[in-house]
Amino acid sequence: AAAPAQIALALREVCFSYPGQAQRALEAVSFQAAPGEHIAILGRTGCGKSTLLQLLTRAWDPQRGEILLNERPLGTLGEATLRRSIGVVPQRVHLFSATLRDNLLLAAPDADDEALAAMLRRVGLEKLLDGSGLNGWLGEGGRQLSGGELRRLAIARALLHDAPLLLLDEPTEGLDAATESQILELLAEVMRGKTVLMVTHRLRGLARFDRIIVMDNGQIIEQGNHADL
Ligand code: ATP
Ligand code: MG
Repeated sequence: AAAPAQIALALREVCFSYPGQAQRALEAVSFQAAPGEHIAILGRTGCGKSTLLQLLTRAWDPQRGEILLNERPLGTLGEATLRRSIGVVPQRVHLFSATLRDNLLLAAPDADDEALAAMLRRVGLEKLLDGSGLNGWLGEGGRQLSGGELRRLAIARALLHDAPLLLLDEPTEGLDAATESQILELLAEVMRGKTVLMVTHRLRGLARFDRIIVMDNGQIIEQGNHADL
């Protein structure tokens, strides 16, 4: 199952509550993303931004409404197709207790060592190659990564994965200004030609997005481009 070259996304009246929760985390969320469109998602903490992204990866399924990828319901896509179609930089990046190589290979099982090392240099993580190189052990019993390094690792994974739909959950949260602008520069490159949903608290740089969605309390309360809002 090959990934489609481009992805159009449509949500129709999507409602979702977490198991055992009476209150809805998402309430009748509807919007569309055209192929290659870049959408920023804003809203205060707890309003449902990460939940929305998680539904797109099928970490959860909505109780009501529809999510369509290229006009096909998400649930009808095979797991392999879904995985190839969607790249994610999650809000909390997971580091496996494994080698540096294996931490990258989960995104691109076929990549060779040279490609992995080149990618580490591209995202500014060449320092991790010092010592044992790609055999260096990360996580428990090994090297821990700083917040900025974890973000770069997640972006390296997304770049290696190269999927047509990219979900970015606050990719620069908690970074200093210099690191933030480096990461944003890198992301601008990664995002080119892809359909992107990016959760952000950052108001600077919003003009570069085709559309801005503002959420509150599980709902979309505003939608438009930078000039409209
Ligand atoms: P932030 O900006 O702080 O990351 P967010 O907009 O991403 O916030 P979500 O993480 O989507 O918010 O959470 C939306 C709501 O769902 C919150 O009230 C949260 O407590 C709740 N929630 C999130 N995950 C779960 C879960 N696994 N089980 C139950 N409730 C959850
Ligand atoms: Mg969140």
